[in-house]
Amino acid sequence: MTTAATQSALEYAVSRVADHFMFGIYFDLSRYLIAAGVLTAFLLVFRGFAEARRIQRGRRASRTDYLREIGSSMRTVVVYAFVTLAILVGRETGVILLSIREASLWTLVWQIGLIVIAHDAWFYWAHRAMHHKRLFRATHLHHHKSRTPTPWTAYSFTMTEAVIEVAFVPVFLFITSQLGIAYAGYAILFFIWHQMIRNVMAHAGSELFPAGWVDNPWTSWISTTTHHDLHHSSGHNFGFYFTFWDRWMGTEHPRYREAFREVTTRRREPQPQPVPEPAE
Ligand SMILES: [Zn+2]
Ligand SMILES: [Zn+2]
Repeated sequence: MTTAATQSALEYAVSRVADHFMFGIYFDLSRYLIAAGVLTAFLLVFRGFAEARRIQRGRRASRTDYLREIGSSMRTVVVYAFVTLAILVGRETGVILLSIREASLWTLVWQIGLIVIAHDAWFYWAHRAMHHKRLFRATHLHHHKSRTPTPWTAYSFTMTEAVIEVAFVPVFLFITSQLGIAYAGYAILFFIWHQMIRNVMAHAGSELFPAGWVDNPWTSWISTTTHHDLHHSSGHNFGFYFTFWDRWMGTEHPRYREAFREVTTRRREPQPQPVPEPAE
């Protein structure tokens, strides 16, 4: 290859990498801003509902909390963008198999089921490990500075924790690719949005799930906002999407169900009525 050809190949590769990285920033930043922004707007519009179902009644996140959460979430977005870049480069070089062709409904169902269950296990064990006293300060203490979570807490991690959290995706895709499974693009897209939405819901500060959720055997295995809120206020409950691991490992908060029932069956405080104008 001539020097000019080598240089143009290099320029092409650099511009591809830069394009992928910018796509990663746009993709990771927009989903955080959209999910946290939409939930914040919902909590403001339905303020009566949100106040009645506030999980920590005696404490509120401060302005400093919000600024710290949003600031560190920007750092997480950059870390995630590097991983998105690694996955896209992995796909171009054939290390990671990702299919953008149409997939059957059955393929999407089992692929989504597998990746969500695998991620829940990764999250539970990585989270428990980060709570070990030797690792906590360097990895996970920053996330727990938010004692009263807000939707913006979702990505509030140290750089080390962000790497641990996001490493699941390339590791999982690398393993499935080695097994000859080409993950469908739509399955990954669903997984990413489901993760983001459940993440902001877990940090909403007000219970979003309907009353009776924890007492119905069909739904009690899906974790609620109270589940993760209790983790921030008093420990226990290390799981993410499901309650399985905490039940199996005996780490579920002993008052989880009771706390959920209390939050979801409170009577709403009567809203102040406007005082009618005196008749002239
Ligand atoms: Zn934790
Ligand atoms: Zn949290």
